[in-house]
Amino acid sequence: MKRLLLFTVSLLFIAFTLTACGSKRERLFKDSKVMMDTFVSITVVSKSEKKAREAMDAAFQELKRLEGLLDFYSPKSEISKINKGSGGVPVSVTPTTFSLINTALEVSKITDGAFDITLGVLNRRYDFFEKHHPTESEIKKLLPLVGYKKIVINPALRIVFLKKPGMMIDPGGITKGFAADRAIEVLKAKGIKAALVAVAGDIRAYGLKPDGTPWVVGIRDPRAKSADEVFATLKLTDMAVSTSGDYERYFIEKGVRYHHILDPETGMPARGVISVTVVGPKATYTDSLATAAFVKGLKEGMKMVEKNGYMAVVVDSSGRIYHSKGLEPMLELLKKHIEVRD
Ligand code: AMP
Ligand code: MG
Repeated sequence: MKRLLLFTVSLLFIAFTLTACGSKRERLFKDSKVMMDTFVSITVVSKSEKKAREAMDAAFQELKRLEGLLDFYSPKSEISKINKGSGGVPVSVTPTTFSLINTALEVSKITDGAFDITLGVLNRRYDFFEKHHPTESEIKKLLPLVGYKKIVINPALRIVFLKKPGMMIDPGGITKGFAADRAIEVLKAKGIKAALVAVAGDIRAYGLKPDGTPWVVGIRDPRAKSADEVFATLKLTDMAVSTSGDYERYFIEKGVRYHHILDPETGMPARGVISVTVVGPKATYTDSLATAAFVKGLKEGMKMVEKNGYMAVVVDSSGRIYHSKGLEPMLELLKKHIEVRD
């Protein structure tokens, strides 16, 4: 698929005061950039603008590094090197890339293969701008190149090898959450006591806002035209949240919605639910578990998320909203159901 955005621009830097002026008071500082093919925003709580700026710069620098290593579409990334070596050359990678792939494999196991980064070869056959999807016979031909068990790793040497020629890994279902976690680690190491990092819909927050209240994030209405229209809000302290939806990258052909979350068994867009939000400690897991739960569907998806100590809000294809009981103290539903027309 074509890259949405090819360059990184600092879009805005807003430093604003929520509490009364005075350099000793904690304030919120926010910066946003277009990177990792999406919109990234970092908000930090600090008494010092200089300290906030330094911490945010360091976090953005880390995200830039991750982008260089993990971009599926860049020929220079380590992911592309692994893909080029498929069927022939085992590739030695950095600890960061190895850790991402290792975690992706762990998630494949706990989701019975619903999460599978070897879908790369099929993802490439969907073009949501050109409104193109692979034919049944193409999918049949490519499915043998899918399967996380065909990835061989050697943790001691940090080597990754794809057994079959033509195999491709695409970590797009876990990279953004992984990046949010890394950015949070950088902010913590820089002494920031509270922050929120949002890499598109993959968000992690810790601490409280200067007024002592938790961070609040909305869950987008999966069928509303405006991205700002939310059907629920979540209050977060020391939590991550990710949403996977069939409205993020899609096109409709003859009344059928083709979107970007594929079922590894069929190579086709997963059906049954239209939005899955996962909440829990780490964004690496909320991201990948949301993708996996979307594939598994309402009952199995919810069960799998909860079994792993995470919680979920799921919207099924008729617009009904379901949520884990454990979310009740932090979840506010603004709509009773979602209007679905397709
Ligand atoms: P997300 O938006 O986090 O649900 O991730 C969707 C992205 O993950 C897609 O654009 C693909 O790059 C990739 N992907 C699609 N289906 C799967 C799957 N079943 N398992 C892992 N990654 C997937
Ligand atoms: Mg995800």
